[in-house]
Amino acid sequence: MKEILKNNLEHVQNSINRFDAPFFFYDLNYFENHLKTLRFEESDGIKMWYACKANPISSVLKILRNNNFGIDIASLGELHQVLNNGIPGKHLIATGPAKSKDYFLELIKQGLRTFVLESVNQLKWLNECAIERNVEVKGLLRIQIEWESGESVLGGNSITPFGLDPDEWIKGEINQYKHVQIIGAHCFQWGNILKNQELVSIWKDSINQAKSLFEELKIPLKIMDLGGGLGIPYHGTSGEIDFQSLKGELINLRNKHNLKEIWLELGRYAIGPSGFYCTKIIDIKTVRGKKLIVTDGGINHIARPALTKQYFECEVVNEMQSNQKYNFQVHGPLCTSLDYLGSFDFPSTTKIGDWLCFFNTGAYGHTEAMPYFLAHPLAGEVILYRDDLMMPRVPKNSFEWMI
Ligand SMILES: *Cc1c(COP(=O)(O)O)cnc(C)c1O
Repeated sequence: MKEILKNNLEHVQNSINRFDAPFFFYDLNYFENHLKTLRFEESDGIKMWYACKANPISSVLKILRNNNFGIDIASLGELHQVLNNGIPGKHLIATGPAKSKDYFLELIKQGLRTFVLESVNQLKWLNECAIERNVEVKGLLRIQIEWESGESVLGGNSITPFGLDPDEWIKGEINQYKHVQIIGAHCFQWGNILKNQELVSIWKDSINQAKSLFEELKIPLKIMDLGGGLGIPYHGTSGEIDFQSLKGELINLRNKHNLKEIWLELGRYAIGPSGFYCTKIIDIKTVRGKKLIVTDGGINHIARPALTKQYFECEVVNEMQSNQKYNFQVHGPLCTSLDYLGSFDFPSTTKIGDWLCFFNTGAYGHTEAMPYFLAHPLAGEVILYRDDLMMPRVPKNSFEWMI
């Protein structure tokens, strides 16, 4: 049994008995210990941000802030969620391609002063806001560069709305916007990378491209924001990030390129492994020679398998000792073949009423889902922190929201 499930088995059983409905479980002791391994010395010049979209639940935000992470927000909703948790605007940066002038005004009102700029319009609007509100603001130019090939959730080499290519920044004659101090560049096009070498090579290319752009613009490149993209294992993936050696690479890159700071915006790698999702087996049957399991929760709660065709690792909770394994296709409750959660070898004794546990669902789980489709129950969220088992969100029905 996987360590995080074994350590929490009693709490999981408690939650199952209490709810009898699907829920996410976040082990924040595990999370806190993990964050300690991501620390840098002040003199290293590496600043850590947390990309709020990965999991914006209050207690996660609070622990991140206690560990000196800043928060990267990309919507009004995320802004207010973070503010409501006592994290002031000065600890936030704002990314995202859909920033209007009104949105910039609201961010400034709430104390933000550093912005990742994704278009010349964004720069122009921020400049106007700085004049109107008489505040000093800083910007990073988000650049989208061409790669040899490949796709990723963040675009890879495809054309996306994230930032502008260096030529477009040059054409934008950005030096006219004098009320925004441009402090650096942001470049992030590759998600869920599992090999240090690959990540470092992407970082090197990104920094080189940012440097040539800034030389041409005659602006010193002080900050390089490399975004996120550090991967975690999913079912059938291979490779694993070695963060301790990445630390050395980051410090070297910062020194070599004479940068004031390198920034990372972690999402998946920060919180993913601290969470798992539990759902009950409703039916088991054989269809055209294949063994199938049907569960009471699926992509209505964990949409990622349908979006990416990458499946979460899965185990049977409390599995009976059995050497014989069968391969099962696991399907959620939705009336669409999209609701497929992967195929796994489970003990032959696996039965109706057993629970399945999907790992690494701490990131891009609850908020990335499609909870109203087919009106099954909404998943609960359970937290273990120190010795306390907390249930800030109990499973609810979804039909009350419908009109
Ligand atoms: C989503 C996102 C991240 C985090 O990405 P991960 O793959 O979870 O590390 C970082 N920066 C920005 C701008 C993002 O949109």
